Amino acid sequence: MSWVDEYVKSLFALRDSEFYVVASGLTTSGPAHMGTVMEVLIPYTISKTIRSYGRKSYFIFIADTMDSLDSIPMQLTSFTELKDFIGRPLYKVLDPYGCHSSYGYHFLDEVLELMKRFSIECDEVLTADNLYLEGWYDDYARLFFSRLDEVRDILEVTSFRKLPPNWMGVVKPICSRCGRNDSTVVTSFNEAITYECTSCGFRGSMYLEEHNWKLLWRLDWPSRQDFLGVDVEGGGVDHFTRGGSWDTAVEIHRRLFGRDPPIGFKFGFVLVDGKKMSKSKGLGSLSDIMRFVHPTVIKYFLLKHDLEENRNLRIDPKYFLSLYEEYKLVGDGRYQDVKQLRAWELSSNGIKWRTSFSDLLIYYQIYRDWGIISDLTRDYESIDELKSYVEEWVRNNLLPEEYDIQLKPSSPSTHMRDLILEFCRSINESMSDVDIHNKVYELARSRGVDPSELFKAIYLLLFSKPRGPRLGKFIKVLGVERFKVIVNKVLNTSS
Ligand SMILES: [Zn+2]
Ligand SMILES: [Zn+2]
Repeated sequence: MSWVDEYVKSLFALRDSEFYVVASGLTTSGPAHMGTVMEVLIPYTISKTIRSYGRKSYFIFIADTMDSLDSIPMQLTSFTELKDFIGRPLYKVLDPYGCHSSYGYHFLDEVLELMKRFSIECDEVLTADNLYLEGWYDDYARLFFSRLDEVRDILEVTSFRKLPPNWMGVVKPICSRCGRNDSTVVTSFNEAITYECTSCGFRGSMYLEEHNWKLLWRLDWPSRQDFLGVDVEGGGVDHFTRGGSWDTAVEIHRRLFGRDPPIGFKFGFVLVDGKKMSKSKGLGSLSDIMRFVHPTVIKYFLLKHDLEENRNLRIDPKYFLSLYEEYKLVGDGRYQDVKQLRAWELSSNGIKWRTSFSDLLIYYQIYRDWGIISDLTRDYESIDELKSYVEEWVRNNLLPEEYDIQLKPSSPSTHMRDLILEFCRSINESMSDVDIHNKVYELARSRGVDPSELFKAIYLLLFSKPRGPRLGKFIKVLGVERFKVIVNKVLNTSS
């Protein structure tokens, strides 16, 4: 069984309901990466699966715009003005591109754009700064201050960290002098919060209802889950390790709110070339991968693994091509594992690509005209979806050697001439690609020649190199007559 069916079935057993709230939160602190896709794809897939079993589900995405900017991502180091905003909440950090009200909202928009490209739909988008401003967290802050000893005990036990004796750090006020909310320490609370800023030395106070503060993350998470009525929420394995914030959330739900926590789940890392990525450059960045791999295929790749398994994406055109091919084969019913089939169903929405990506690579290199290719294949849907990716592969020279088929005819060794001519005479337009391919074997064997020698000779004749795409398919795409013209031309001029 696929991980998602397993999870949803256990969810129904643990919490029997007609309606489930699924949530996902993300700190919008920089450019999106593969992990960002997981943060929205996994809960969306769960939500969708709940619905496919005839129950209702509501998927909420929350942007943690109140989190402070703790470092400047590598891709943004040229914006030196960002240095002045370190430690400030993301919704108050300058948008370096100047197109949004803040840095946090700029990268929120990037996530929403990404969701569109991956056909991930959420029912509601919330931002932390608005939730705070609207007062949703006020009573939670009051509750935590009023039961400080219990909160402290839970935090110490679940995070394996000792807190200072006079600790009151339930909230992080935004320093009214320097604007940071990562360096303030609460010194007292009585509806007014008094605090000291360890960064600029300011001492000040503010009323809870001014909403210039945020809860400590470990307290924010369960509070939000409580007022949103969240039933299902998960995260990367790092949140779920012993001492992680999930353990704190569970205890806060049970001991302070007197309720059961949501049903959690955790997913593995996405590795790129075996390494954890998030700040990698070049071909490893999400935007680069997305130039070459269709989002549906990326989705298939991410969903076919077990939930907690790490996914390792190899940055290698051959590997990318193998994913395209696997996706197509599974769609055609040729899968080895039901998990593959389930991943295909969840990523494809039932739309099949009739023409494979590797065939389109060949078609495009021969004809360079999508009108002609559409006429030949009559596969308008696949071409529409895949043509920009095919062009990008060819333009960037990403083609694995056997698919790089610039026609570069050269004359074969003389002992192969007759055999090639005989092959030409034995094939015609009405034959299928498989028939043509088999003809090579048949003919070579009947003349006591190793078939691989004949293949090699034909590849050399066409491309001036000993390897190439599946020959039958290639001749079919090229057209049998056109193939014969090329062969005759080469053999005549070389005679
Ligand atoms: Zn912007
Ligand atoms: Zn300050």
